[in-house]
Amino acid sequence: MTTTTSIDITTSTTTSTTVTSTTTAPMKDNFIPAPNRAIDPSKPMIALTFDDGPTGKNTLTILDLLTASGGRATFFNIGNSVEANSAAAKAIVAQGSQIAGHSWTHSDLTGLSSAEILSEMTRTRDVIKKVTGIDITMFRPPYGSSNANLLAVAKQVNEAAINWSIDSNDWNGASVDQIYNNIINNANKNGAIVLCHENQANTPEAMKKVIPELAKTYQLVTVEELLYYSTKTISAGTLYNNK
Ligand SMILES: [Zn+2]
Repeated sequence: MTTTTSIDITTSTTTSTTVTSTTTAPMKDNFIPAPNRAIDPSKPMIALTFDDGPTGKNTLTILDLLTASGGRATFFNIGNSVEANSAAAKAIVAQGSQIAGHSWTHSDLTGLSSAEILSEMTRTRDVIKKVTGIDITMFRPPYGSSNANLLAVAKQVNEAAINWSIDSNDWNGASVDQIYNNIINNANKNGAIVLCHENQANTPEAMKKVIPELAKTYQLVTVEELLYYSTKTISAGTLYNNK
């Protein structure tokens, strides 16, 4: 486990013997900060994340809110939804936000074989590449459910696993005000990763309040940006969170 002094991101790596390689893929080298993207590493950052899309309308609403506040976010997309909503997937990239994977079928990947996990991840990588031209570098395990076997496959496909440190609870029936409070009341430290879902009814409405409020204090960055500026060791097959 490593901890930076300026940004509270912790990393955990598996010690299972199923991970046989001791080398770590140089994820950081794969990430090139966007041109004309002004980020001040000395100022607080927060990474909003939106799972379970792209949905279409909600994706575009959230992207417009981000643009209006000069922010970006990370969208963990389900592979078969990318096929169904390819215009929204393209819009994520065009806005400057990060597109990433969230499996193909939204299964709990810890219940699958390595071959099945590889299929879930590869199909998702491939459709995002086909639709947007992007080689994704990160994924979020459905339900945040991870184990050594999953991380070994993630390493194989050169992706880091990303969980979260603040849960908006939008997936659990939270109202607009509850989503707002869950995020704002907990966003009191630098380097947080916030779990949201773009397919939940109250999330876009909550973001109309959350995004402008966060932007007063924080730079709204992608997970790639957050990790790039907070650690020098972003590695495929590693689970990043803030727990
Ligand atoms: Zn999900």
